Amino acid sequence: MNMKTANIFDAVDPVRRKIMSAIRSRDTKPEKAVRSTLHAAGYRFRKHLTGLPGRPDIVFTKRRVAVFVHGCFWHVHGGCKTWSFPRTRSEYWSIKLQGNARRDLLNLAKLRADGWKTVVIWECQPTKVWLPKLKRILGPAKRRR
Ligand SMILES: [Zn+2]
Repeated sequence: MNMKTANIFDAVDPVRRKIMSAIRSRDTKPEKAVRSTLHAAGYRFRKHLTGLPGRPDIVFTKRRVAVFVHGCFWHVHGGCKTWSFPRTRSEYWSIKLQGNARRDLLNLAKLRADGWKTVVIWECQPTKVWLPKLKRILGPAKRRR
């Protein structure tokens, strides 16, 4: 991080910074919703497996599938109607969000190079959009009952 970026980062007021860190914490609402849907569908998985690039939110170790549940704003969902770049501090946000998006792409590429299948679920996507797609990649769930 160069000095210019650091200064822009410091310019974020404490309240906003607190909100930001809360939003970015683990186990966000969309993550929980995706997990419980998958669980109800009979799938078993690990979460936040450390040591994998980008720390995927949901990991199917045997199937080697890594799933990210991305917030549309933080991860720059292209063409998404639920967010837009903030009008204030636009330079700060532009640098910040583009950095996030770049890091995401890099992590996905690393995972794929390592033989993982990767799936990104956007928080704006309804279950009927992401679930069938993910099921195709995962194959049928093993039902234990
Ligand atoms: Zn979106």
